[in-house]
Amino acid sequence: MQIKKRLFVALLSISVLFLGGLAIIVWYLLTHQGILLNQILFTLLIGAVVVFLVIIGLGILFLVLALWSSGGIHTPQNMMLLAVNSLFPIALSLGQLVGIDREKIRASFIAVNNQLVHNRGVHVKPEQVLILAPHCLQWSDCPHKITIDVNNCRRCGKCPIDDLHRLADTYGVKLAVATGGTLARSFVKNYRPKAIVAVACERDLTSGIQDVKDLPVMGVLNIRPQGPCFNTLVDIKEVEKSICDFLGFATKENTFSDGLNFRL
Ligand code: SF4
Repeated sequence: MQIKKRLFVALLSISVLFLGGLAIIVWYLLTHQGILLNQILFTLLIGAVVVFLVIIGLGILFLVLALWSSGGIHTPQNMMLLAVNSLFPIALSLGQLVGIDREKIRASFIAVNNQLVHNRGVHVKPEQVLILAPHCLQWSDCPHKITIDVNNCRRCGKCPIDDLHRLADTYGVKLAVATGGTLARSFVKNYRPKAIVAVACERDLTSGIQDVKDLPVMGVLNIRPQGPCFNTLVDIKEVEKSICDFLGFATKENTFSDGLNFRL
């Protein structure tokens, strides 16, 4: 397990302990402060919280096993997803409380997600894979409206959209460029992909992955040498690796000699 993934798993574990501690404190206060409560109802409530925490705890345990064994040990996806999705906001707040950067926690979540998607061994046909790219990858002075139709790109090589086109052609997958979550959702609705390779910043990738829970999404972080949302770049090799993961074969030889696009 890499350090990036450990951070998120550690925060999830602390979150479940935090919730457990909170439940014990509430239980103690309510039973020792002379507040009149229906004892049966109260016990049932605490019982439900305990059952929830046990399920979440098991979810984290399975998550650790899945990451540690790289998919070698079969673990229940639903429990892991429940643990990740229900504890993610708490993990994010707790991490911030102890001074860990939000983006670092989100990047850790994305790394965990990618590993879990890889472990699932999803293999689909090329036309069922969609590369979903953000508009900020497009060269800021480009006059062509590629969000309406990505084929409006003239493939001049001034931005990574050209490389993404080349990848889409090489592997026969679909490509779409979205300006935000609403357009991204409409692309998913229209193209009906079985797997998505999404390029975006930490925040957009995290919300996107959580948005389409049922679809396997591999997230690739964009690179922001000129600040957020402006002339961003992407490691094209990472995108290629994710596509090939879904197609079930190794990357084609010499598709890209240089993973990073620094042509701006
Ligand atoms: S490759 Fe050229 S034409 Fe295509 S989006 Fe980038 S700048 Fe525009």
